[in-house]
Amino acid sequence: MAATRSIHLETAIPGPRTREILLRKDKVVPDPLALYLPIVASHGRGATLTDVDGNTFIDFTGGVGCLNVGHAHPRVVEAVQEQASRFLHTDFTIVAYDLYIRYAERLLELAPFRGPAKAAFFNAGTEAIENAVKFARAYTKRAGVIAFDNAFHGRTLMSLSLTSKWHPYKNGLGPFAPEVYRVPYPNEYRGVPAADSLRALERMLEVSLPAENVAAIVVEPIQGEGGFVVAPSNWLGALREICDETGILLIVDEVQTGFGRTGRMFAIEHAGVEPDLMAVAKSIAAGLPLSGVLGKAEIMDAPVEGAIGGTFVGNPVALAAAMAVLDVFEDEGLLERAQRIGETIRGRMVEWQQAYDRIGDVRGVGAMLAMELVDDPVLGRPDRELAVAVAEEAAERGLLLLRAGTYGNCIRVLCPLVISDAEVEEALYAWEGALEAALA
Ligand code: PLP
Repeated sequence: MAATRSIHLETAIPGPRTREILLRKDKVVPDPLALYLPIVASHGRGATLTDVDGNTFIDFTGGVGCLNVGHAHPRVVEAVQEQASRFLHTDFTIVAYDLYIRYAERLLELAPFRGPAKAAFFNAGTEAIENAVKFARAYTKRAGVIAFDNAFHGRTLMSLSLTSKWHPYKNGLGPFAPEVYRVPYPNEYRGVPAADSLRALERMLEVSLPAENVAAIVVEPIQGEGGFVVAPSNWLGALREICDETGILLIVDEVQTGFGRTGRMFAIEHAGVEPDLMAVAKSIAAGLPLSGVLGKAEIMDAPVEGAIGGTFVGNPVALAAAMAVLDVFEDEGLLERAQRIGETIRGRMVEWQQAYDRIGDVRGVGAMLAMELVDDPVLGRPDRELAVAVAEEAAERGLLLLRAGTYGNCIRVLCPLVISDAEVEEALYAWEGALEAALA
């Protein structure tokens, strides 16, 4: 039994107040904005989230990886309040503010660029991807963009075109942006060796898509929505080499992997590969909408004046939160913490895998971990229903879990990195109970 009780359940899940609100939701909110969990938030703190019925959960979803510093970190809240009392908006390209520049300076210090680099800010991850492609096209004067099987890069036109998964993201929503090409992403567990992926890419560049037509390769160092599939470092290094040889730019999508999730500030650091451009978002501002494109200065300077922008490009309140996030990382040692939490959770997942043959794979880096559930240990067919059942059972035990993967059969860890050891234990206890119940 877990030692502490951060989890506190007052009602069955969903509780009566939640049910009443969700009935009203159905009348005014479009069906495609379907709820993943039948929970309505009241307040959150650190790794816990309390619903309107007074039930407190440990949150392993982190608002889909946006809360590496946890819910409502006091330093973030203070920074937001302070900035909100000064001014909320000017549009940085109309009236500038020093906060934008100070944050760019500080973030670029942490980014894996060896030479001069610059940063441009936006709101969501999808905007960062859209703009990264713009920077790449303006610099290379080429149109093509290569992405990978099972990639997820967002839901607006260019990013959705780069996203691989058809259901539910793309079905019936085409036509998509042209000049997007796709090759397999390495996935040893699903029978795609890195060498095969590389061969497919090289062959494409030889026979059907000459490099002189390709602006960029867009890659997640660890696929997020795709199921936390980890790209081998030497494969990422080989992409870098191909880019160097051909003038194609390497755009690294760190939207889900960034800000300490893997135990480094950015996941690409594990491979020692320098990107040309990098997209960041999610945990950058502790839940406030902020994203960015960071890149080599000459590439970032390539579009003509005014070609990059928008009304809300680097909101000052979100930037104040982002600055506080970096303070929290430094003062609370969250990179080491990600490593520690990751080791504990991975250790337990591996034990479960030995006990339950329906856990086909356990993988990840640092605190970016997932288990892949299958219907049969030999055939290894993805078992979405089992993953759904585990997540439901976990919610009933006070742990919020998120699925991932092309087949929705993976369960991923995106817990706040400020989570205490006792809360990790409590969460794992709930998860284990959920696994036992779902497999019974
Ligand atoms: N890129 C990656 C790797 C992501 O995981 C996501 C979102 O999950 C995006 C881009 C899109 O970000 P957003 O949902 O903020 O538009």
